[in-house]
This record gives sequence, structure tokens and C-alpha cells, in this order.
Amino acid sequence: MATGTTVSILPCGAMSTDITWLLLAPGRAMRTRQTKDQPAEWVDCPTHCVLVDTPDGRLLWDTSCPRDWEERWAPTGLQDFFPYDKVSEEEYLDSRLKQMGLSPGDLDYVVFSHLHFDHAGNAQLFKDTNAKLVCSEKEHEWCNTFDGPFNGAHLKADFAGLTFETVSGDTTDFLPGVSFIQTPGHTPGSMSMRVDLPETGTMIFTADAVYMGASYGPPTVPAAIVNNLEQFYSSVEKIRGLAEETNATVVFGHDANQIHELRTAPEGNYR
Ligand SMILES: [Zn+2]
Repeated sequence: MATGTTVSILPCGAMSTDITWLLLAPGRAMRTRQTKDQPAEWVDCPTHCVLVDTPDGRLLWDTSCPRDWEERWAPTGLQDFFPYDKVSEEEYLDSRLKQMGLSPGDLDYVVFSHLHFDHAGNAQLFKDTNAKLVCSEKEHEWCNTFDGPFNGAHLKADFAGLTFETVSGDTTDFLPGVSFIQTPGHTPGSMSMRVDLPETGTMIFTADAVYMGASYGPPTVPAAIVNNLEQFYSSVEKIRGLAEETNATVVFGHDANQIHELRTAPEGNYR
């Protein structure tokens, strides 16, 4: 339990996308022969970051999408599948930090759940600051395995020239009350974050280990982008077990309903 620690969820607008990418749910996104003529179902895919203030340091969890997404993502072709087109000026990460009275240099750590372009999109904001950039060792290793500018939603421009510190295994009390949980499957090195707060209790931020409540189930529903399905399922159960044990609030990576039910910054936070 970390006295004096606060958690601020920074909503950063939304991408829009065909729900089939997010939920491979038979009868929902997958058309039957009776529904094959129905149009594709496009939904909001919201994105958020989390600011954790502790007595021993200030941490940002994930960095959302960049302002120049349309040009930056062009090599991948994914800008047409996941346009970041539901974002207002005050929702970009740099605006959100300003609303919290912060500039990139005020962060001690920027920790990445994984390095997909909608989580590492603003990593370059922290270049040449004192912020230490942190991701899992497995994610970092994997990002050095491919040639060319991108592989799926991993885009080298997001993290080129940056130095990362890595964590491996589950990391308890990285800062007071803040732990990282290895939850691979979505990508080789996807992590979730656990924060133990005196009033709220435990919060678990799943990032893309669990996209949304409908993915969590039970039953668990996978997504179109999964690096390793077996790891994906076992990571969801790892989160579920921990959540049940700690009676945690589980915050999903891209849940269009949940983000509006949470207490969000700059107005609200969790203590
Ligand atoms: Zn992802």
C-alpha cells in the first residue's frame, strides 16, 4: 500500500476501427450467411495514458498516439484501419500533461505496456529529458528482430534513437505500490500495471492484454492482433486470478464504455 500515491487516467481520444480487429466474436463481427450483406461495424477504440504520482517519483504509463499519426503510420497502411480521428486538441497527450501542470521533463519514468504505435506514439516527446524509458526485456528484444521500418503495429520511428531500460519477470514495487506484470500474447513482451492505493485498493491496467470488457468475458474473446494465442489466454487468466485475489478495479486498454465510467483527469483521480 502506498500512502501519498495518486493515479490519474488521461483519456486521449479515440481511434475508430472495424470491431472485427478487436473482438473475434462469432455472431458479432463475423457475419453469418444471413447477415453477410450488413455493413462493417465501426466503433470507437479509445486510448488513454496513466499518470502515477508517488512519493518516490512520477511515472507515466504508455504514451498513446501521435499528432502526426496519418503521416507516421502511412508505411504500415494501418492509418486507414485505425484512424486516430476522434481526438480534440485538449485530448492529445502533450495537452493532457499541460493540464496536469507538467511538461515531459517532469516525468521520472515513462513505462510502456508494449511498443505498438498507439502506445509508444509519443515516446519521442521524452527524448533528451531525464525521464527513464522502460519496457519489458522481451518487447525490447523483439523490436530488434525485424528489418525495415515496421512490423505490424510496431513502428521503428516511434522508438528509434531512444534508450530503454528493461524489466523482466513480474516486478514488484518498482515505485511504492506500483508493480508490473508480464502479460504476453498480444505482443511478445506486453505488460500490465498494478497499483495498490490506500483508498481505492488495487487497480490493474491491462493495456492490450485485455482490450475491453467484452474481451475479458468470461469467456475470453481474442482479437485479430495476437502474437501468441496460448500466451494471450494464459495472461488473461493471470490477470483474472490477480484481480479476484485483490478485488481489483481492472482498467482495460481500449474499452469505449469503461473509459466514460472511470474518474478521469484532469478533473478526477484515484487515491
Ligand atoms: Zn497493441
